[in-house]
Amino acid sequence: MIRLLKSRTDLALQIGRLKQDMGKGVTDRRREDELREDVRSLCRELGMSESLGARFLNFLLNESVSVQSTGISTHMDIFMRAKSLEAQGRHIVHMEVGEPDFAPPDVVRGSMTDAFDRGFTRYGPAGGMPQFRDALARYASKNFGADVSPSGVMVTPGGRFAVYLAISLLDPGDEIIVIDPAWPAYAQCAQSSGVKVTTIHTDMAGGWEPSAEQVKEAAGPGTRMLVLNYPNNPTGKVLSAHAQDEIVGAASDRGLYILSDEIYWQYAKPGWKSVLGSGYDKSIVVQSFSKSHAMTGFRVGYAMARPDVIGSMVARQAMLMACVAEPVQYAAMQALGADTDARSQTIMSRLDVISDMAKKMGLEFVRPDGAMYLFVRIGRDGTRLARDLLERGVAVAPGEAFGDYRDYIRISACQNEETLIKGMNIIYGNLGNRHG
Ligand code: PMP
Repeated sequence: MIRLLKSRTDLALQIGRLKQDMGKGVTDRRREDELREDVRSLCRELGMSESLGARFLNFLLNESVSVQSTGISTHMDIFMRAKSLEAQGRHIVHMEVGEPDFAPPDVVRGSMTDAFDRGFTRYGPAGGMPQFRDALARYASKNFGADVSPSGVMVTPGGRFAVYLAISLLDPGDEIIVIDPAWPAYAQCAQSSGVKVTTIHTDMAGGWEPSAEQVKEAAGPGTRMLVLNYPNNPTGKVLSAHAQDEIVGAASDRGLYILSDEIYWQYAKPGWKSVLGSGYDKSIVVQSFSKSHAMTGFRVGYAMARPDVIGSMVARQAMLMACVAEPVQYAAMQALGADTDARSQTIMSRLDVISDMAKKMGLEFVRPDGAMYLFVRIGRDGTRLARDLLERGVAVAPGEAFGDYRDYIRISACQNEETLIKGMNIIYGNLGNRHG
């Protein structure tokens, strides 16, 4: 079996290179469906468990995907490279990461010593401090269009961990639907749990809008979860309430969990609606203090779902990390009361600034409805451009990190306007050179 695995991996690598030369994506849904059906019928024929067969198939497919995806650059690769250039004394404009340049709300400063003085320095319940869960439940009920009870919410170390916990509810052998372009962690978490990813491809011509029809088509017998992320990273798309309801309806017809990552909700034009508001009882909604309260380094977020679902996620969190640090929970609890409207307006107006500039430069993009990014088509290899730009002093994220979007880059709006304008001018200068 090990020898077979070795020759399979070598073949996958060769096929991967061919696909790249032919400009083809890594996965082929139709081929996977055929394979899955072959494995199922073989298991039946041999009297073997179909779920064991599915687990093994996912293992093989995920191995191929990982072998064929090596070398894909993400915004974190560019970020790390930018950091090392800075260490050599270079000045870099950071338009690659989604980290607001604001300080956390003022109240957070005092809350750190307050937490110490009040003795919030100990182990606590894995789902979060009871008073914080109460506060989150009240906050959620006020803002997200549904009654959330304290047992329907848990505190996590950032939105990322909540995403991981939700995906790890699935069994190895299951499948999950991710709508591309997408934040890479959804696929990474799935792959590390033995779950196979099926992608729905959306494009700029269609306004980055997925349809309920696409969800129905993508859902096979092994599919258990659909991931939504609106406002979207990287496109800034927000679905209309009607379109979102239709998608939720399609997922609920198939009995899928909906994992809705809504961490950019405070950066959205009016019209955004939380999936919680649809009342679907298999929704798991992820939130974070990272973007809304500029608390990226605190590592604190929360998840909301049916109490039994939250219970399963809490059990896993208890095993992995006991609980989120109490002083951090205390600080976030204070931050919850802070007024973040001005920050939201600042990010939205910065997005307008870079959108206006991008338009004048003749770049192709859909004006974002929210989040903190522009996803622009640049008509050439985005990864190479990101590397060139870094040499010229501006860091951007390559499009291929978000799916099959090699001729795109993502530009983030997390610096002050003056810095953003400087960065956009460098990008323009570089793109201009192509013709010059
Ligand atoms: N979801 C999305 C869509 C993101 O872009 C990010 C961070 N870039 C996260 C979740 C995770 O944020 P955190 O873990 O800091 O809460």
